[in-house]
Amino acid sequence: MIAFLPMNVAPLIQSHLEKAVQHIADGHQLLAALDIPKQILHKKLLISQKPYEAYRVQHNDWLGPFKGGLRFHPTVDLNEFQTLAYLMTLKCALLGLPFGGAKGGIAVDPKELSEKELEELSRTFVREFFDNLGQDRDIPAPDVNTNPQIMAWMLDEYEKMLGSHAPATFTGKPVALGGSLGREQATGVGGAIVLREYAGKIGKKPQDLTVAVQGFGNVGHYFAQTVSNMGFRIMALSDSKGAIATSQTEGFDIEQILSCKKGKGYLAGCYCVGGVCDIRFGRKIANEELLELPVDIVVPAALENVIHENNANNIKAPIILEMANGPITKEADEMLIKKGVTIIPDILANAGGVTVSYFEWVQGRMGYYWEEQEVLEKLEKKMKEAFGQVWNISHEKNIPLRTASYLLALQRLHMALQLKR
Ligand code: NAD
Repeated sequence: MIAFLPMNVAPLIQSHLEKAVQHIADGHQLLAALDIPKQILHKKLLISQKPYEAYRVQHNDWLGPFKGGLRFHPTVDLNEFQTLAYLMTLKCALLGLPFGGAKGGIAVDPKELSEKELEELSRTFVREFFDNLGQDRDIPAPDVNTNPQIMAWMLDEYEKMLGSHAPATFTGKPVALGGSLGREQATGVGGAIVLREYAGKIGKKPQDLTVAVQGFGNVGHYFAQTVSNMGFRIMALSDSKGAIATSQTEGFDIEQILSCKKGKGYLAGCYCVGGVCDIRFGRKIANEELLELPVDIVVPAALENVIHENNANNIKAPIILEMANGPITKEADEMLIKKGVTIIPDILANAGGVTVSYFEWVQGRMGYYWEEQEVLEKLEKKMKEAFGQVWNISHEKNIPLRTASYLLALQRLHMALQLKR
């Protein structure tokens, strides 16, 4: 175990923290306190006689038990987990959730493991970290390359060791084991609610606004479907195999695209929806071109760092909604702000997922499970509230929405620190 080393946080996050903290009296003391993680755990797991590095960074728990995903990926390291754990602390504080921030996982390519080995690795993680997990201590969830099945194995191992049921110890579980209805679509739907609220504030109707979405996975497809149902016009979509754009004024028919993607497996196969190539269904474009289209809103919903210093000046959209984590580099962020682009930041826009994870934790503790409609109504209330507060701070202080989001999160952490001292 390594303890009391200062957090090693990505320069991008550090620079946003510095900007926000200027608005808090004795804010640098707050940052210094946040710089000390509660605990960094690092262990070696042995599976089929092969060692795997496993980590859990428990950054901060002033507001509640640690909460954050587990990522299985060959390139993960302690630096990445420290940045992600810090971001979870901020995201939970921003949404007013009673959680702190954590992140962890294993340096492994799960595709190289058999299903049996993957299960063994997941169960071994729980055995090794058992003392540090718990519904009131640290609540993991799925992240990159982990899923509800892995959460089910982990919960089962945890409950066997504990000798009793404790479903609230993991979120993102299958619904049959106490997962929440609505969790699957929560991130995409949450982002759509934020966008609709923003449109209202700038006096636009959804129908007035055109959107291009990069990424059509869990987040991108539920986001596109929800904003399209709200009336926004989707002019371009992409996945890892390519992009499609339409020149029809009303935008894509998302239901048609969804059923086409299901059939063909990739979006670029859909520009000829209906069998015959028909211009109404769009044209194929390069993936990079999608970000530079003359639409009102660009939505990166796939990868990190896709908007950087080499393409930031080509972005024509006046609004960017960050559904992916960290899609804009530090340099690009500064260039876009200078150009007058509004950026709705990731810690707000994609917080619907952790919000419904919170609802899953609450339901697990109560032993009473809500219907999907109830979960989605509660999600809407939380997202609207957080957006409204960020909007007000941004206007009162004349600062970008990202700085306002960081500031609101830091103010809540500051208050907790003062009350505890
Ligand atoms: P996913 O794996 O389900 O989907 C990713 C999508 O991105 C796929 O459609 C893939 O084809 C596409 N993609 C990959 N490379 C691409 C490229 N070069 N150009 C265009 N598209 C490309 O992942 P997800 O769960 O939808 O997550 C997407 C992003 O949202 C990630 O940054 C993730 O960290 C973030 N996020 C997800 C959640 C959640 O609840 N799933 C919550 C918060 C943040």
